[in-house]
Amino acid sequence: MRIGYAFAIGAILWGVAQQPPAPAEHGTLRLHYVQKPIGYERYAITRAGDALQLTSDFDFTDRGGNVHLNATLRTTSDYTPIHFTAKGKSYRFVNVDSDVTIDGTSATVRADGAAAKITIPAIFYTVDGYAPFAAQMLLLRYWKQHGEQRVIRTVPGSPGNDVYIERRGREAIRIGTKTVRLERFAIDGVVWGRETLWLDEDGSLAAAVTRAGGLSFEAVREDLESALVGFVQRATTDRLADLELITARILPLKRGTYAMVGGTIIDGTGRPAIADGVVVVRDGKIADVGPRASVAIPEGVATVPITGKFVIPGLWDMHTHVTQVEWAPVYLGAGVTTVRDMGNEFEFITALRKDINAGRALGPRLLLAGLIDGPGPDAFGVYYAATPDEAAKAVGKYHDAGFEQIKIYSLITPPMVEAISAEAHRLGMTVTGHVPNGMTIDQAVIAGMDQIAHLGIRGEAGSDDVNRIIGVLKAHKTVIDPTQSWNELLGHAAGTPIAAFQPGVTKIPPSLTRLFSNAGTAGIDAATARTRLERGLRIVKALHDAGVPVVVGTDEGIPGHAVHREIELYVEAGLTPMEALQAATIVSARAMKLDGELGTIEKGKRADLVVLNANPLEKIQNVRTVRWTIKDGRVYDAPELWRSVRFQP
Ligand SMILES: [Zn+2]
Repeated sequence: MRIGYAFAIGAILWGVAQQPPAPAEHGTLRLHYVQKPIGYERYAITRAGDALQLTSDFDFTDRGGNVHLNATLRTTSDYTPIHFTAKGKSYRFVNVDSDVTIDGTSATVRADGAAAKITIPAIFYTVDGYAPFAAQMLLLRYWKQHGEQRVIRTVPGSPGNDVYIERRGREAIRIGTKTVRLERFAIDGVVWGRETLWLDEDGSLAAAVTRAGGLSFEAVREDLESALVGFVQRATTDRLADLELITARILPLKRGTYAMVGGTIIDGTGRPAIADGVVVVRDGKIADVGPRASVAIPEGVATVPITGKFVIPGLWDMHTHVTQVEWAPVYLGAGVTTVRDMGNEFEFITALRKDINAGRALGPRLLLAGLIDGPGPDAFGVYYAATPDEAAKAVGKYHDAGFEQIKIYSLITPPMVEAISAEAHRLGMTVTGHVPNGMTIDQAVIAGMDQIAHLGIRGEAGSDDVNRIIGVLKAHKTVIDPTQSWNELLGHAAGTPIAAFQPGVTKIPPSLTRLFSNAGTAGIDAATARTRLERGLRIVKALHDAGVPVVVGTDEGIPGHAVHREIELYVEAGLTPMEALQAATIVSARAMKLDGELGTIEKGKRADLVVLNANPLEKIQNVRTVRWTIKDGRVYDAPELWRSVRFQP
């Protein structure tokens, strides 16, 4: 059947050619989202004289939504591109419509409605994101045939959209009685950060581990499907080695015992800022803090002058998915020292946490919420619960691996919310997550959820219904991470540039810019988008006023920068700058029962601090002016962190 399919594609493509070429190659890759099989990529390569023609049909269904991309790539026999097209979607909110024609040293590029004729260097490739994987397979072959050049410029894409490829090793995997020999590569720049790809001895793609829309995505050749987890683990080992290299290059400017002297200290307790203050750090903890006149700096302790600067507690992101190691320097660069991961690949996130905790890798402190969904074709991830037994098993697996929380996902039924919550509570864990389909937020809370991700409240602030719901949340001490910056990013009018509300977008690598190039809502104007956002912000304010803990969470967005935007939006909602900072520090720490050691700048707590160039209490935007981030007493240079993963500082 697959051969028939390949022939059919050949016949369509070459219908007008003089002689129908034989299909030289074809393949089927099983696609997975966070390890759940969700679709296929089928490709065929035909030969006609000197030219090769790839056609790919990339198709998956994620949580009920179909994502489909058709792509073609014509190359010379040494894989130099001649013509590339890609049309459809590569992820839920990423539309792709690209056409690139190469003519000598120039390329006619049409992408997302804009057309341009550009000059291309001798070494270049045509690729538009991770899909189709078959195009990345040909990219690897091109690289091998062109002297394994260090840099490959790619089109379409903005200048600087360069790709770097490395050989990472060989391995043999056993599938039944058969041994398959593979070579492993890292590709950096097709998406943000490194992907792992495996070619077999014929140069055919065996597997790939990458990210789509910020979450893990895997492609595995059909006959190798049983090796999926092994591929994920192998990719994880490589990426952790990459992070250890970054860690070795970005040495802390200071560690051990030192005193920062002369800055303004905003300790995050709500007390007035301390002018001309001192923070003494000893072995990762805050040994003393206060005005210069009242803090005795022990003899022989190195001092770091920070006059004119502002110190705040390390920031938290309470809703993220750290699916790649590049997040680690990004978060520290943004002043974020603790994050709660809300759903990830088990093998990756537990290994990353181990490396960070052991001090082998830099990165924020990772708190983990393990995701559980209901079963079925629309489910998310690979941990399900439809019976109390399954609920107990899934909760137990996360508990045994040291997860702090369970994250309930949309298809969990009301009885399972109760079963999961009861088991999690019995084991000393808390429960957060989506309000499941068919439930209201107050029902979810009454069924046992301690926290809720995303805002999940319909209606208008001040209405009887919203007041009643807020009353339920307050009575249950429910914690909310409203992810308003995420709503803003997806809900802004498509005609409004993201930079108009999120300046950080101008500093991200080109491969990541592509992901957001059409994030936004079509068919609405800026005023409508703002009205929708403000409805949410009024509820955030009402929750805060009622005493419901609101914590800063981003659901990723523009990496690192989204944390600052979320904080800014709370000030737009009507919180004071201090209250907005507290939502990203002590209120978050309290929600995770870690306020005894984190969340404020107080004696005895861990030295997780951010040194800013400007005062965030005067103007909340100044939270973006991170100069140094201190995690467990180690002082990192923020610009250096950003640059290590191709962000502009
Ligand atoms: Zn999320």
